[in-house]
Amino acid sequence: MSIDVKGLCFSYGKGKNEVQVLKDITFSIDSNESVGIVGKVGCGKTTLIKHLNGLLMPDSGNVTVDGLPSSKKEVCKKVGILFQHPSKQLFCSTVFEDIAYGPTNFGVRGDELDSCVHEAIREVGLAEEILERSPFTLSGGEMRLVALAGVLSSFPDYIVLDEPTSGLSSSGKANLFRILDSLKNNGVGIVLVSHQLEDVLDVVDRLIYLDNGKIAFEGTPSEYLASMPSPVPQVTELMRGLKRSGIDVKDDIFSVDHAFEEIYAA
Ligand code: ADP
Repeated sequence: MSIDVKGLCFSYGKGKNEVQVLKDITFSIDSNESVGIVGKVGCGKTTLIKHLNGLLMPDSGNVTVDGLPSSKKEVCKKVGILFQHPSKQLFCSTVFEDIAYGPTNFGVRGDELDSCVHEAIREVGLAEEILERSPFTLSGGEMRLVALAGVLSSFPDYIVLDEPTSGLSSSGKANLFRILDSLKNNGVGIVLVSHQLEDVLDVVDRLIYLDNGKIAFEGTPSEYLASMPSPVPQVTELMRGLKRSGIDVKDDIFSVDHAFEEIYAA
């Protein structure tokens, strides 16, 4: 079982306003692995993941999920996407209704719907009392977990998370990665999208590095580090060591891109 992207090209706009954002992208993601899609802000990551469940369709090339073309409705259920700003995914008057929204759309009703919602809220580690609250009274971290529960309640085979660590504390990130690890162990494919390489480096099986709409690197995190010029692995190693020691370093200061700029400006 896999998501397969072949020769995907995509542009926004028409005629003289046309801007090509994705250029001949080919890769696969197996249902039992976690993959990081990384690259600078604006390189096309969000545009790419919107193709994985049919929110956008390629101009040329194709995307299939477990053999089904991404235009099929079943693909929406198979691939759940958690977008960068969870508040945009919450719009009902209670947390329960928000988490129930996806399965309701797929025709789930009654006791089955109730159990989907309760299972999802348990999976993200939130107390069931939160179900009666308005989503707009929640903290940023709670909103993100509720939005994740809203994706999990449809039991997707793959979960794609766009910049999931932004705004989370070290303990919030550790909690999120614990949840994702448990999902992966239960056979859910995980796609983590981030402009902060360090946030995903230690938690994914494979990395896809996008640069200006093209794949610049694809391989394991160790292969990525080995392919870098010598100073960068040291900075990255320092960063990873600090994070492992529980020191809450500022991501923007320690990003590899930033380290490159610092090193070459010196
Ligand atoms: P990333 O997720 O890597 O930050 P995006 O996929 O959001 O990148 O954006 C890639 C490029 O496409 C950017 O130049 C962005 O301005 C442009 N873009 C994104 N969404 C739209 C849109 N709806 N219409 C036109 N251009 C867009």
